[in-house]
Amino acid sequence: MDNRLVLYNTLTRKKENFEPLNPPFVGMYVCGPTVYSDVHLGNCRTFVSFDLIFRYLTHLGYKVRYVRNITDAGHLEGDNDEGDDKFAKKAKLEQLEPMEIVQKYTLGFHEVLRLFNTLPPSIEPTATGHISEQIAMVQKILEEGYAYEVNGTVYFDVEKYVKEYDYTILTNRKLDDLLNNTRELNGQDEKRGRLDFALWIKAKPEHIMRWPSPWGVGFPGWHIECSAMSRKYLGDQFDIHGGGMDLAATHHTNEIAQSQACNHTQPAKYWMHTNMLTVNGTRMSKSAGNGFLPHELFSGSHPLLNRGYSPMAVRFFMLQAHYRSTLDFSNEALEAADKGYKRLMNAMALLPKLKATGKKAESNIEALKQRCYAAMDDDFNSPVLIAELFEAVRVVNSVYDGKLAIDPTSLENLQTLMCHFVHDVLGLLDDNTGSDDFEKLMEVVIRLRNEAKQNKDYTTSDRIREGLSAIGIQLKDSKEGTLWNKI
Ligand SMILES: [Zn+2]
Repeated sequence: MDNRLVLYNTLTRKKENFEPLNPPFVGMYVCGPTVYSDVHLGNCRTFVSFDLIFRYLTHLGYKVRYVRNITDAGHLEGDNDEGDDKFAKKAKLEQLEPMEIVQKYTLGFHEVLRLFNTLPPSIEPTATGHISEQIAMVQKILEEGYAYEVNGTVYFDVEKYVKEYDYTILTNRKLDDLLNNTRELNGQDEKRGRLDFALWIKAKPEHIMRWPSPWGVGFPGWHIECSAMSRKYLGDQFDIHGGGMDLAATHHTNEIAQSQACNHTQPAKYWMHTNMLTVNGTRMSKSAGNGFLPHELFSGSHPLLNRGYSPMAVRFFMLQAHYRSTLDFSNEALEAADKGYKRLMNAMALLPKLKATGKKAESNIEALKQRCYAAMDDDFNSPVLIAELFEAVRVVNSVYDGKLAIDPTSLENLQTLMCHFVHDVLGLLDDNTGSDDFEKLMEVVIRLRNEAKQNKDYTTSDRIREGLSAIGIQLKDSKEGTLWNKI
């Protein structure tokens, strides 16, 4: 067990020593996806970041229970309990049952995360599977006096809560600013206070996903599921709660209030938030036309991309930035990351072939190892770790070329160090395309296919393209010639 780990806590706005409540056990809850559409790349970055955190904590010897939920009910379009139900709307559009939508996009989400080589969480609870736990929590909040019911809908009473607790403790915003940014109530509103939010919502007749409750037929509000499920699997108080930084202002703020009102304690000791993605310097979003899906990135089918990149190259690209920094997508940055990833994988392929010289090592492997741990102990600083690993790559290449001596113990340490950090911690695998031989083989195949095309032998050129596609290799013709990548 390592006690040097320091992490940035959003709650206190500073880096703190990581001291779990009940070592060696660590409870970690991360807000999962709302499965009504394809998972977007920003979400993938969040889950890759928490995968890195999960992997490193596990590597240090902690017994981590990692809970990541699936939101499959209760998420309305507006964060303020307004708008259509996301599932019902999509179900109508695709002419499917809401639970068919849930199944379709849950499978898609798992497939994308598998391609990114993220480890599955210990528990992946769904909102629809925990309706009774959510009802019980709403009941308790009502009993405690922090909620009220109006016509079958139950609201959390923020105005009462702020008299005793700090509602904006997570983001440190001023309550007045928050009020000024919230719509004024009118005669139509059931809520008493502008900041009040729904814990349980009465179902309109056309609402399909509905459950009986003490307040009539309805469905849970979006925020209550995470409070109820984290409580069930990790207890009233646990170690880490994480998610994308866009969740802090509303969803996580409300989660803290719900748990505090119900359990009389803060739910998590450490709150961790991942930063967002930008494209050529501007925020990635569907409406700006610069938001792309993981598969568009892998295949290179998006108009902003010159070519596709393998999931492992994209994972490497993501880990080259610290999880709290923004990450900018551009063709140049992806190209550079792809080269770096391949260099690292080349070194990994050489590693078992290295021969010890018997002479004392000319490079201090122990010091390098310490620097790798120091990087990760400093709030999971993967870019610094990767820089240190490139120092290891230099050593590997020099030993392989016979330019550097290494004794058997140092060689073994170097091999262990690289396997631990590249495979176990960063979760990077060789997609089998990093080696020189593979590159040369692909050049031969592409040349044959292009010759067939020039000779108008489209049967052969198509067969080559389809054959490659069947094993996950995509070709893309461009001005610079035919480019390829592996999905
Ligand atoms: Zn959540």
